[in-house]
Amino acid sequence: MAESPAMFSLLRNARVWAPEALGVCDLAVVNGRIAALAPALDSFPSWCNAIETDLEGRTVIPALIDGHVHITGGGGEAGPGSRIPPLSAETFRAAGIGTVVGLLGTDDTTRTTGDLVAWTRELGAQDVSAYCLTGGYHVPLTTLTGSVRGDMAWIDVVIGVGELAISDHRSSRPSNEELVRIAADAHVGGLMSGKAGILHLHIGDGPAGLDPIRKALASSDLPAAVFHPTHVNRRKALFEEALDLARQGSPVDVTAFPVAADEDGWAAPDALIRYLESDAPDDLITMTSDGGGCLPAFDTDGQVTSYEVAAPRALADAFRAAVVAGVPIETALPCLTTNPARVFGLVGKGALERGKAADLVVLDDLLMPQRVMLGGTWYGPDGTASPRMRSNDD
Ligand SMILES: [Zn+2]
Repeated sequence: MAESPAMFSLLRNARVWAPEALGVCDLAVVNGRIAALAPALDSFPSWCNAIETDLEGRTVIPALIDGHVHITGGGGEAGPGSRIPPLSAETFRAAGIGTVVGLLGTDDTTRTTGDLVAWTRELGAQDVSAYCLTGGYHVPLTTLTGSVRGDMAWIDVVIGVGELAISDHRSSRPSNEELVRIAADAHVGGLMSGKAGILHLHIGDGPAGLDPIRKALASSDLPAAVFHPTHVNRRKALFEEALDLARQGSPVDVTAFPVAADEDGWAAPDALIRYLESDAPDDLITMTSDGGGCLPAFDTDGQVTSYEVAAPRALADAFRAAVVAGVPIETALPCLTTNPARVFGLVGKGALERGKAADLVVLDDLLMPQRVMLGGTWYGPDGTASPRMRSNDD
């Protein structure tokens, strides 16, 4: 457990991307929130007992938001032995992630929404802001209270529905009527509870691609913003469909999974570059890690031949790769910060500005997370609380 955060902290000489480039600034932090952000701030009065840290011009960005994480562990496609254990708060902090959205995937049978809610709250108690989605791959949806609207109205951390699978051999192939009804429940649940109310959809390798979403939009009066398909970079043709859907107003999510050069898909940095070069709205792309999820390969009989486990660290890796490939930091950052904050309705997250959470990442010279401040507390490279960073002499 982290020690209680300093009430007053002053961070000097931070090269801030907020995500827009602000140059070298000082940040005053009071009770875990940014109280001021400007060049050469005055020191706090002595009675504040503030802790000053000189960041010596290091790069500082908002803590990343990872909107698709199997926080209780995903997997299970290769039998119970392939179930992946829960992800710790240290794992996220070490990866520069300050906010996560947890969900269930293929295994929404032995894994439950109740377990997901419990682990979401535990992460939140450890300074990683955590939310979750109700449901999973299949219909009828797995829920805690018996309905999407009930889960959203009564459970504070439940902000939407997902990851419901379509166009995948593991999906239960919801009909158009079922898809529209679930999306409507997510939307109305969001209106009732003041939350995002999105339907986050796992898109598989199936040939139907995004067709079920297009049909749902054409046959209902639901806003396009309710639908949030993920893994849209897994095939190149699917990615083109995603650009079209974003032009219609739906946010689309790129997954930072490994894509080999000879595969028919775009690695996340390439997908980001292609998206930003298109005429799709810049604020409708998000990137997530699928952390804790299983990345299985299947043979033609639908059996698992091998699998890897996705790591939250992939998000920072993809950000760095995009910047190394020439995307300006302030252009790459929104898809990991301000865009997911808006899509998932996370007020106060994703940007460094007065009044927002003091959730930030200090990057090293290679643009990888070196330390994070979450809710006013410093955490070191391994994600554990790091009181040494409270002084100037570390
Ligand atoms: Zn998925």
